[in-house]
Amino acid sequence: MAHDEPKATGPTKLLIRNIGLMLSGALEKPILDADTIVAVNGKISAIGRARDVDTEGATTIVDANGTTVAPGLIDSHVHPVAGDWTPRQNQIGWIDSFLHGGVTTMISAGEVHMPGRPRDVVGVKAMAIFAQRAFWTLRPGGVKVHAGAPVIECEMVEDDFKEMAAAGVKLLGEVGLGGVKDGPTARKMVAWARKYGIQSTIHTGGPSIPGSGLIDKDVVLEADTDVIGHINGGHTALPDDQIRCICEGCRRGLELVHNGNERAALFTLRTAREMDELGRVILGTDAPAGSGVQPLGILRMVSMLSSLGEVPAEIAFCFATGNTARMRALDCGLIEVGRSADFVIMDKAQHSAGKNILDSVRLGDLPGVGMTIIDGIVRTQRSRNTPPATKVPEIVGG
Ligand SMILES: [Zn+2]
Repeated sequence: MAHDEPKATGPTKLLIRNIGLMLSGALEKPILDADTIVAVNGKISAIGRARDVDTEGATTIVDANGTTVAPGLIDSHVHPVAGDWTPRQNQIGWIDSFLHGGVTTMISAGEVHMPGRPRDVVGVKAMAIFAQRAFWTLRPGGVKVHAGAPVIECEMVEDDFKEMAAAGVKLLGEVGLGGVKDGPTARKMVAWARKYGIQSTIHTGGPSIPGSGLIDKDVVLEADTDVIGHINGGHTALPDDQIRCICEGCRRGLELVHNGNERAALFTLRTAREMDELGRVILGTDAPAGSGVQPLGILRMVSMLSSLGEVPAEIAFCFATGNTARMRALDCGLIEVGRSADFVIMDKAQHSAGKNILDSVRLGDLPGVGMTIIDGIVRTQRSRNTPPATKVPEIVGG
């Protein structure tokens, strides 16, 4: 089955050589002066020039063929349900399709599309623990899905958060999608969650589908979640003055999603740049959603923000990698020794007008994905979903 994740059977040493461009994922130094990466047992062990790196004994050798290596992309906002199936648009294999769009890690903003989703406290807790366990056991295509994100209900008490945290729950789903829609209750529960190490996010803006509600700037700021979930609306955005108030009124993450208002995303980006706080900008798709499932959604956001938001492409990639990893305390998202060896290898799409991959993204084109790697293991080669890359990496030995 496509669901089965390839697993290493013994010690592994991955060597990626002949890298044309290395994007670090780190805003402070988005491009690294290096052409070689070595990863031992799924963790990056060396980054540098070929002559300076110990490349002996590799079990897998990838010749990047002059292409671009970046950290695997992180989708900060998805709504998984079970396995690689979504009832929202009744699709199977959507997570595997995202892997072909360069996404190697996903973060659940709540398993809210679960048919018959329980609303009582025992049911909410049970479902969160189930989702956390199920997605940690089954990684579709190898993609790391951080799930088990309960949506808070008014009847919850502090002990519920303590109990969920002890059981392995690390996330809250979007505040506002359940019964809690007021600032004071949200603030109290978000603080309980934080006390026990559970990260939080909130639905920002108008209702996304019938049954969800409006969350305005006052509720967002009072709730004080770690991430301002889809600050550009999902789809209906708050007015610009409210978005500005949120940006200026807190230091929390500013999440821009594909299934949101694109103009509001650009407004948020410009506001964050004016404030010199681009480190707060992270990207998600909010898929599956009413507007579908977008395997290339994160790449499309990178390209949209770079081309229309006038941000260098190497910076826009940080929004989808290092910024998210740092904000959400993930061990991937940066090309750095000790981090997970999760990579996307890309090149300029064939016939793009851009001079090179960064120029092509800046012009609004999508790059072509040639390979994805998770935990040091090659998961996919030439993407079935992106436009074809001009040059592709090859497995040449090991
Ligand atoms: Zn939402």
